[in-house]
Amino acid sequence: MGGYDQLCIVCGVAPSGGPSQLFTDPDDEVEHIAEKIVSDILLADPSQDYSAVFDIVQDALLQTDEVQWLPDGIRDWSGFQNCVAIGYFDNEDGAASLFPDKTDGNPCFPNGSKVQLRCVSGGSAGGFTSILGDGQTKEECLTHCTSRDSRNPNFFVSEACYHYLEEWIDRTALPSQRLSVPHTPNLTFAGELYEIVNSRAEGRERLKGLLPCIDYGGIEDTCEQYQDNFQPNRQGCKHIAAGINEGLSEENLLPHIIRDFQCWMFMRPDRWPSPTAEEVPQHFTRHNEDINKAETLFDKLSAQLLLTIARELPVPSYLALSATCGSLRRRLTESVLLNRVLKEMIAVGSLQWVRPVNAMPGELENATSIDKEWLSTVSDNEGSLANNESVILDGSKGTSVFQSANFPYFTFVHACFTSDSMNNRRRLWENTKQFERLWKAFRLYGWEVDRFHH
Ligand SMILES: [Zn+2]
Repeated sequence: MGGYDQLCIVCGVAPSGGPSQLFTDPDDEVEHIAEKIVSDILLADPSQDYSAVFDIVQDALLQTDEVQWLPDGIRDWSGFQNCVAIGYFDNEDGAASLFPDKTDGNPCFPNGSKVQLRCVSGGSAGGFTSILGDGQTKEECLTHCTSRDSRNPNFFVSEACYHYLEEWIDRTALPSQRLSVPHTPNLTFAGELYEIVNSRAEGRERLKGLLPCIDYGGIEDTCEQYQDNFQPNRQGCKHIAAGINEGLSEENLLPHIIRDFQCWMFMRPDRWPSPTAEEVPQHFTRHNEDINKAETLFDKLSAQLLLTIARELPVPSYLALSATCGSLRRRLTESVLLNRVLKEMIAVGSLQWVRPVNAMPGELENATSIDKEWLSTVSDNEGSLANNESVILDGSKGTSVFQSANFPYFTFVHACFTSDSMNNRRRLWENTKQFERLWKAFRLYGWEVDRFHH
């Protein structure tokens, strides 16, 4: 059997760290890819001249051979390359020993009660060649996680995704397991994850190793035997078309190409944005005129209740809500309230993914220094939230990063939404929330299919 890549079941990135090129062979492919992009551009704007646009796109694509274009932070990140293998590794080749079923003798999987974890590296073909010890020392040892072998309960999650799953899935908020449904009682976090993955009716997809019940947003298309090229993950041509309309060409068009090829999905998710001198564009207009004096339902809400509702909303939904009438516009975009809402969104609401995850090496330190950079941009009283009640953080998870009273929340959150790293962090958060739904179903209904020995 030849080599192939299998992908992390949470993020869809291979242990290689992801693609490093837009496409494989310039001679063979560039014309075809340029044709597809140009047809998309002309579909949106038929007034464009086909051959002129084609030449610009093809020239720009060919620049990837000439200049350093791969954004820093893509490809060589240990958080995607080091993985956590989950399962049983007792056979010589690092595979699990199976048990014959008591009734029909067919092999069945060990249940999750004694599941093992292995920190591994050197991933290829759904397997790993090294075990990582303390201080990243390596021991040569095989770990068998491929889904091409249907009788294999072992799988892997990238190191970052493992820590994010553990932090972002709030298991205490999930229903407890029902005694009336078939399950293994008293499982650890890894044990539950193992049984969730292995008890789905549709198991891991054979070629790439992903779960069919998770929406990976198209990143899985980049794995064509190997996950080498960004090209299959291109979505539309909006940014390329805008770049051409601005008169950009050759290497100056590459950043727009990278955006439409969605390279950000492979960006390391731990680079919080630093403040820049750029003005934050205004996304909304404040209503200062008191044109609508009628009281809305929201005017009757106490500030605390309004905050409790608002912090659960995604930022775009919050801004959409503020656009529904003049009175709400005035109230929700008022800067002290807006900063408080964003602060609570980060602490306990829809922006929790912005906070560092302590278990992930380096995150707390990086985020703390970025926090200081942002705080140094504000004078002591500017936008201050002092004297307002502070958010009570869960003791086990709480950090004070991004929680100072005079932190410039609006500017910071805007910078996060325009950062490739933070957008990928948000994507990983959304993927863990899909796993949270599987977790909930597992707690309520147990195994969808019983493949276990018990
Ligand atoms: Zn991952």
